[in-house]
Amino acid sequence: MILHTAVPNEFKALGVITLTADAACAHRFANVLNYLGVTPQTNISSLSVVEHYLIDNPVDVIVCEIHPECDAGLMLPSLLKRLHEDGTLEQVPSIFWTGEITMSAPARLVDGERLFDQAVPSHHFWIKYMGGVTVSALESHARLARAAGIHVEILREVGAQELVDALRAAVLTRAKNDPMRHMETFDSLAEDEVINALTTGEGLRFVFQPQFELLSRRVVGAEALVRWKHPHFGEIPPSVLMPLVNRLGLDLLLFSLVEMWTLRVMLALKRENIWIPIAVNASAKTICTPQFADRLAARMHQAGLPTRLLKIELTEDVPEPDELYLSASLTAIRAKGFQVSLDDFGTGAATMNLLANLSFDEMKIDGSFVRDVGRHSSSRKVIGGIANWAELLNLSLVAEGIEDESTIPLLHRLGCRVGQGYALARPMEIDAFLSFITQKEVSQQS
Ligand code: C2E
Ligand code: MG
Ligand code: MG
Repeated sequence: MILHTAVPNEFKALGVITLTADAACAHRFANVLNYLGVTPQTNISSLSVVEHYLIDNPVDVIVCEIHPECDAGLMLPSLLKRLHEDGTLEQVPSIFWTGEITMSAPARLVDGERLFDQAVPSHHFWIKYMGGVTVSALESHARLARAAGIHVEILREVGAQELVDALRAAVLTRAKNDPMRHMETFDSLAEDEVINALTTGEGLRFVFQPQFELLSRRVVGAEALVRWKHPHFGEIPPSVLMPLVNRLGLDLLLFSLVEMWTLRVMLALKRENIWIPIAVNASAKTICTPQFADRLAARMHQAGLPTRLLKIELTEDVPEPDELYLSASLTAIRAKGFQVSLDDFGTGAATMNLLANLSFDEMKIDGSFVRDVGRHSSSRKVIGGIANWAELLNLSLVAEGIEDESTIPLLHRLGCRVGQGYALARPMEIDAFLSFITQKEVSQQS
């Protein structure tokens, strides 16, 4: 449940500044923030002053006005990214964008003049603006900023309710480790520790996350994911481990380990007469290993498992060495009866290219679109568009990163039939996964 009222002193420790060149707006911001117990607030009127202020003062949130005559708010994410990258800022403040909301009918430019289209009277076609910028353009810009590690919230009004939720999220973000500092924290991981973990299996585990048919909630698949517990640092996220594994050329070794455990899980499910495909992640480099498909098929054959049960998810963390060779390898894999999925569709620079030139059985919509689906119309449009492509190309579609139960009917309406995410089930240790799947099967049969 979300509480919309601020608990006394809840935001006292947050460092909040406001960014607007308009004195009346600064006054409005100050009133609302004061009301919520946020102190002190400094208003800054230009981007260059923000830069100097941040060097000397810790700031958690910058509430900033989007205004037609001032692009400071739009430029702020780039400024924060630069200050973080050059080491000036250790912790990056969250940005809250807000501004005057207006609606306007679509206009055409004729001889330099904006002509409003009389043929589109319905309010459904009206365009929403914040501070003179279309809200859909702001949403796209915010998504890019988030992908660059800068948290941006769009507040449609500086009313207390939305602001309380956003400030509360900022408090939580502040409490967690800054993800951009993850890499630095783990920089001291010795390469020989990664080599040791992969060669001995020490500290390595494999977890399995079920995938569901969204309407019936039947389990229709799963994805295998690696976990590594370092003796000193504790759990190392795959986002840190995988670049090290790739740099050390250990990707094929990791793939073989995941595959071995996945086959064990498949055999355990086979004993229960359960036949669901399980996906294993692999980079283009791994997939392009000579005789990859033959080797995989031989392992499945030895285990007495049909190849259709193993799905290979092409990740984009290592660029494809040679598209022609990758195409040959993927085709050989599919020819043996394995399924091939394109992971994280929509994020990588080359995903469109991969989709256009290579053949797949499935595409997975990246969680960054899925997580925003309830809040941002641009994410809904992107997901609807991807679902159309999937249909045109005769591909199955999996929506990843579903964190919010309430978005499931919407995702279904947009054309996603299958999904994966914390709202449905978290990645599970092998024993927990096996009992989860067998219990589900029993309950579905009865
Ligand atoms: P991916 O293949 O896209 O895997 C999905 C990631 O989303 C997993 O993160 C999973 O734990 C996480 N996830 C699932 N549901 C949710 C949700 O509702 N919300 C959020 N925020 N996250 C969710 P994980 O395990 O940290 O893996 C990250 C990436 O690391 C994977 O992305 C994959 O590219 C790579 N990776 C993980 N395990 C392996 C592996 O065994 N081999 C290879 N080559 N890559 C792996
Ligand atoms: Mg994956
Ligand atoms: Mg993915």
